[in-house]
Amino acid sequence: MTNENFQVYPLIDKKKRGERLTNKEIKWFIQSYTDGKLPDYQMSAMLMAMFIKGMDVSETAYLTDAMLESGKQLKFPGKNVIDKHSTGGIGDKASFILAPIASAAGVKVPMIAGRGLGHTGGTVDKVEAIKGFSTALDLDTFSQKLNKEGLVLIGQTPEIAPADRLIYALRDVTATIDSIPLITASIMSKKLAEGANGIVFDIKCGTGAFMRTPKDARNLGKSLIATSKRFKKKAVALITDMNQPLGNTVGHSHEIIESIETLKGNGPKDLTDISIALAAHMIHIAGVEKTFEKAHKKALEMVSSGKALEEFRKLLKSQDGDERVIDDYSLLPLASAETQVLAPKAGFIKMFQNEQIGLLLIELGGGRKTKADLIDHSVGFTFHKKIGDKVKKGEPIFTIHHHPHQQPIVEKIKAQFVKEVLTMSSTKVKAPKLIIEKLS
Ligand code: URA
Repeated sequence: MTNENFQVYPLIDKKKRGERLTNKEIKWFIQSYTDGKLPDYQMSAMLMAMFIKGMDVSETAYLTDAMLESGKQLKFPGKNVIDKHSTGGIGDKASFILAPIASAAGVKVPMIAGRGLGHTGGTVDKVEAIKGFSTALDLDTFSQKLNKEGLVLIGQTPEIAPADRLIYALRDVTATIDSIPLITASIMSKKLAEGANGIVFDIKCGTGAFMRTPKDARNLGKSLIATSKRFKKKAVALITDMNQPLGNTVGHSHEIIESIETLKGNGPKDLTDISIALAAHMIHIAGVEKTFEKAHKKALEMVSSGKALEEFRKLLKSQDGDERVIDDYSLLPLASAETQVLAPKAGFIKMFQNEQIGLLLIELGGGRKTKADLIDHSVGFTFHKKIGDKVKKGEPIFTIHHHPHQQPIVEKIKAQFVKEVLTMSSTKVKAPKLIIEKLS
């Protein structure tokens, strides 16, 4: 605890009037709350003042630092420890591809990933489709595995940024999630605690992302990069399209299969391109290759040589996952029934309400409605069409993978998809640009 003793009311009032808070004031406020000395209603009032009046780069860094210092911080030697953070979307499985690619190229990748949040899926939930895979390692084991194997993937632990966990829960119920400084401090406090020397951000933008417009995505990207730099970390952010699922599959086991296929060189173009680009930035900022072009070539080589796939096998082995799934997908939980959803008319795919696709997966059991819900890894969707594709009336747009007893819910999903998710056009539609912008 800092030695200062501030009064709570004047600090809330100061921020409410739009004044800048000092490092000491922010640190005292966050420490007091984390130690249980401030009630939720005063923290909520402060969060709302921060949300409405905003915070500059310095205040955001002070908040990040206060939340970072609330927990354990890992440190690793060398400059080649690089993580990636995605702001989340539908069908985003790029971590399973880019992390083994970067690791095979000589980058150390410490991944502390999340579970599903709202309509978006989570890396930790997805990898748990693989029997035995343990995401609940303690931080000592995490560090040992990173040093030995060069790649480790776990879920959030209570020791990392406990202030963020408390504050996030409060933001979730006080309408203060979608604030760029608060999101930045929340993401950065956890990323900095992992001990990476650099971070590659994938800022998703579109109907399936938390950031709906390129302008919002750019502002979040700039804020994450500015905060990374304040903490002397290398950082690159790609703003990428999330107006349709990434790759062709949505749903846990199905996404694992698609990731393995991509590591085998058979992945869909969008997923392959994004994974290679993000891995190449990791390889570049780690200093493994001097130019981005060389790093990109290296990332491609890691796939074509099979080295990235072997790295994924090593990851499964190291964390007690059943590595046989790589060669036998039937070892994954897979629902036995399939129903196709057909185009209601001829034309071009114009738009997907991508957020709704995530919500339809939750309806099918592939996500949580309450914190206590168990995820059904076996259900999911395979898309056969993308934005810009020409379709004939009655052609399949996607397949629902479900259990035989789920027919009533499947009928509901079919109707909802045509009514609320899909927009078609009678004239040609341009496919959206996948990588919209790079910030560094
Ligand atoms: N992800 C986080 O970790 N924090 C936020 O505030 C939003 C998304």
